[in-house]
Amino acid sequence: MKQDRTILCADVGGTKIKAALVNEKGQVEDFREISTEAHLGGPHVMLNLRKILSTYKGYEAIGISTAGQVDSEKGEILYANENIPRYTGTKVKVMLEEAFQVPVKVENDVNAAALGEAYFGAGSEAKDLLMLTYGTGVGGALLFGKEVYKGRDGIAGEFGHMVIHPEGALCNCGQKGCYEVFASTTALVRNAKALDEHLTDGKEIFKAIHEGREDVRGLLEAWAKEVSYGLVNLIHIFNPSLILLGGGLLEQPLAFELIEKETRKRTMESFQKVVLKNASLGNQAGLLGAASLHLK
Ligand SMILES: [Zn+2]
Repeated sequence: MKQDRTILCADVGGTKIKAALVNEKGQVEDFREISTEAHLGGPHVMLNLRKILSTYKGYEAIGISTAGQVDSEKGEILYANENIPRYTGTKVKVMLEEAFQVPVKVENDVNAAALGEAYFGAGSEAKDLLMLTYGTGVGGALLFGKEVYKGRDGIAGEFGHMVIHPEGALCNCGQKGCYEVFASTTALVRNAKALDEHLTDGKEIFKAIHEGREDVRGLLEAWAKEVSYGLVNLIHIFNPSLILLGGGLLEQPLAFELIEKETRKRTMESFQKVVLKNASLGNQAGLLGAASLHLK
């Protein structure tokens, strides 16, 4: 890694654009954020991105972590869903290099978060790792030797769309029974709401469990089992050293414990050396991963 470098980083999410200066030690300074205003579309999001980036000085390159499928060679958005209309096709790298006159690199947010963890977080000791993030859907990334495995089109790692229950409910992607339909945070909250309309998020769910609600704990256990199905498949395919689990729910020790127990129960003896860990960088993982694009 080259020394004494400062990278201006931004993480473009559906709600916020976060930005900061990151140095080669992974120290984050001058953290700022603004609303993405994603509903106003890709060109407007790029305006907001340029606006926040232009408030910084004293950097030699820009790293961008962004929602959507990214061609990281060209620094373009291959595909973004309706959360950011007209973002598909945006030439992020070219536009920002023209505006700021420094080298720009762009990576998908899930891959960037995994890179952040691999360089500066819970994965810094591992030579290979898988990372899964449980939220609205299930995001996935594969890293071999701290490089993202991209696949033919740069979009490998859609673990959320492994088919786990072929006869199951419809997924956003058009198929039935995808992993994320059962294992996302959304899935757990949906089931909890059906049980009790007051259980509208993870916080309420864990509050109910800590108050002794056995029925709610049962839902969490069923969800952990769904999470384990995907992990067991991945463990048997990749024989990974490390699997990092991210997302708000996973910060609850009980959730992590149940998932690990269910996963080990279904994993072949010879694959048990895999380590399961919480991702450690929280919502700074994307920024740090964006920095690593230039620091490696
Ligand atoms: Zn799907």
